Amino acid sequence: MLTILLTAGVIGGIAVLCASALALAAHCFAVYEDPRVGELEKCLPGVNCGACGYAGCSDYAKAIVAEEAGIDRCAPGGNDVLEALAAATGAAATTLEKMVALVHCNGTAENAKHRHAYNGIMDCQAAHQLAGGDMTCNYGCLGYGSCARVCPVDAIEINKNLAIVHPDLCIGCKACVASCPRNLISMVPASKKIHVLCSSADKGPIAKKACNVACIGCRICAKLDGDAFTMDGFLAKRNYDNDVTNPAVIEKCPGKCIVDTAPAPPAQPTEGQHA
Ligand code: SF4
Ligand code: SF4
Repeated sequence: MLTILLTAGVIGGIAVLCASALALAAHCFAVYEDPRVGELEKCLPGVNCGACGYAGCSDYAKAIVAEEAGIDRCAPGGNDVLEALAAATGAAATTLEKMVALVHCNGTAENAKHRHAYNGIMDCQAAHQLAGGDMTCNYGCLGYGSCARVCPVDAIEINKNLAIVHPDLCIGCKACVASCPRNLISMVPASKKIHVLCSSADKGPIAKKACNVACIGCRICAKLDGDAFTMDGFLAKRNYDNDVTNPAVIEKCPGKCIVDTAPAPPAQPTEGQHA
């Protein structure tokens, strides 16, 4: 009996000692978290997408409190989050331009030619590493959906071997941008609807041989609307700082690679019809 009591006493003593040591350690090594971090976290959407450049919403909130980051880095949250952060921090709120991802290619199965069949892993990185992919164009979309798989909101559809971003679904997290081995995806202002959907740097005849809707480097767009279109070698580029003031470029482009992605307006009733 005495042995049992002694053992229980020793164990109890050790437990008390350990608990005290743990309590002391917790006190000594306690990390103080500024209560403002929690307040700002509540303003953020909690999707932890990393678009702000931080590992997640919590880290971004800490960076704002530490004055390492501004309040305008949460693309998914848009202006609502910006206003909430401005109210919580007292900082001035400007208006955020909504940015969405765009795949700069229109090489569908009908438009772009294949140089050989590909039976490897259904992944763009794998296909790209195997002799540059199966497309005749070395710059075009491979269509194996690496971008679609990383999109947290299913905003990318693979249709006829081509990745297409649905701008209304895109939250602007940029996850797809880094996933594309062809560097075909960039963020563009959601308000801009006219784009150059080609990324081929090849000379016109080579580009045209590979795809029916390739930029042939003719410079017509840059001559017709030099503020909205510039040339980068043999490839036309859209300057998103400016609106397209001469929409005739779409029709005049012999490569058919300038595209208006705005939904077509509803058909007007013809004479004798009612709306
Ligand atoms: S398409 Fe998807 S992955 Fe790309 S930026 Fe938009 S939400 Fe993010
Ligand atoms: S855009 Fe890039 S990642 Fe997406 S399907 Fe095309 S090649 Fe693959």
